[in-house]
Amino acid sequence: MINILNYINGEFQPALGGSWLPNHEPATGAVYSQLPDSQAADVEAAIAAAEQAFPEWSTLPAAERGAIMERVANLLESRLEEFARAESRDQGKPVALARRMDIPRAVDNFRFFATAVKHWSSEAHVTDQSAINYTLRQPLGVVGCISPWNLPLYLFTWKIAPALAAGNTLVAKPSEITPMTAFLFSELCREAGMPPGVLNIVHGLGASIGNTLNVHPTVKAISFTGGTLTGATIARQAAPLFKKLSLELGGKNPTLIFADADYELALSTAVRSAFTNQGEICLCGSRIFVERSIYERFRDDFVARVAALKVGDPEDESSDLGAIASEQHFNKVMGYIQLAQEEGGRILTGGTAVKSEGRCAGGWFIRPTVIEGLANSCRTNQEEIFGPVVTLQPFDTEEEALAMANDTQYGLAAGVWTSNLSRTHRLGAQLKFGIVWVNCWLLRDLRTPFGGHKASGVGREGGWEALRFFTEPTNVCVKI
Ligand code: NDP
Repeated sequence: MINILNYINGEFQPALGGSWLPNHEPATGAVYSQLPDSQAADVEAAIAAAEQAFPEWSTLPAAERGAIMERVANLLESRLEEFARAESRDQGKPVALARRMDIPRAVDNFRFFATAVKHWSSEAHVTDQSAINYTLRQPLGVVGCISPWNLPLYLFTWKIAPALAAGNTLVAKPSEITPMTAFLFSELCREAGMPPGVLNIVHGLGASIGNTLNVHPTVKAISFTGGTLTGATIARQAAPLFKKLSLELGGKNPTLIFADADYELALSTAVRSAFTNQGEICLCGSRIFVERSIYERFRDDFVARVAALKVGDPEDESSDLGAIASEQHFNKVMGYIQLAQEEGGRILTGGTAVKSEGRCAGGWFIRPTVIEGLANSCRTNQEEIFGPVVTLQPFDTEEEALAMANDTQYGLAAGVWTSNLSRTHRLGAQLKFGIVWVNCWLLRDLRTPFGGHKASGVGREGGWEALRFFTEPTNVCVKI
């Protein structure tokens, strides 16, 4: 049994109250480690450590902060295989995906912000001949970073890297469902010489830790990625203290496929964008709209490709999909497959759990599922399932496709497949989503603003947006 420990003030420790939570391996359903069931006192200790570390860290030259962060990135890169295996075991994703995507991206997150902060500048405004204004951007102090279970280290580092680079000290909370790589990561920070108290990682339940962080007056900002309902709770709790909030929330992303698209590329990418990471990526395209003239051909080809995907042991290099991250989430996804049928949907492939023999007999696996025959207004097409379940819907005109795509409370990401250049610009401006991918998916440039419209979030991460979020501007006006 591995004991995951909190990392507070540079020390590894169990929860002060001595309680533990079980941590399951999704592929087997078995408990393989335990994590501290931290409570308010643990969060208080972490906040105090962060507060104490702030004056020194925030006044360290950006290049020195960056150098420590680069050392962390180098250490992570040198242990990529170990981290990829740990992520796969803890989350259920295929190890090949963790090796190809999650861990390299976590390395990139740290390298990117370690360097970005050295290139950052702030604005100056000359007011006629009478004054010069310049903007000072100073770190906020202690900030809270809360991350979800789908891309554990990838999203954890996406938040903490800009916060650290900008000179803040932090209390970070990984999801209780996937705490392992954040724990391993804290060892790297210590080894890289990050001063004690700069990054504190507290493990446990959202309700216990989050609620303390959200209402603590010393914590100046909360950067959160997770579900829309949790985001609303955090906003309600933090608003009276006027904390800065960055909320990256849920999605119900449309993929629009026009008859003039590069058919093969659209088809293979639609499969990838629907089922990568078992569909547990906030950017996965779960509502696929296809122009009617190619609908039947596309549907049959899509279903054939999806049926050929291999669901299996995440340790198996040939698995396309691994296990669902938790039993609770497995039950939620299976519940939506049931609902889709009650709403009149036809299951074209999948729709059932995978039962295997041997090591994975107790694991939580679901076949990639494709459903047609549902109206866009039904719950299956409106609520976030966040699993390997997609629907197909035909459309006749660009206007109709646009209206159906936008008809959701969410607005995280949309995909458009077309060779019509004018259409790409028209839809780019009219789709109410934080990202519009044209003829691609998951092509990320870390400098671009990342976030959602509508119920998909408030604020933006990425590039200068993240550094702006983690600093407070002061305008200094000097009369000439
Ligand atoms: P949750 O909202 O359940 O949890 C996210 C994190 O918040 C977890 O660490 C959780 O802890 C914690 N938490 C729970 N309650 C509180 C609280 N009251 N205060 C503070 N923190 C709290 O989301 P999931 O982990 O289930 O992640 C899936 C969701 O994340 C999906 O909706 C998905 O769309 C969204 N997501 C959005 C992304 C984006 O960029 N927009 C990217 C990736 C995912 P605990 O685990 O202990 O409950």
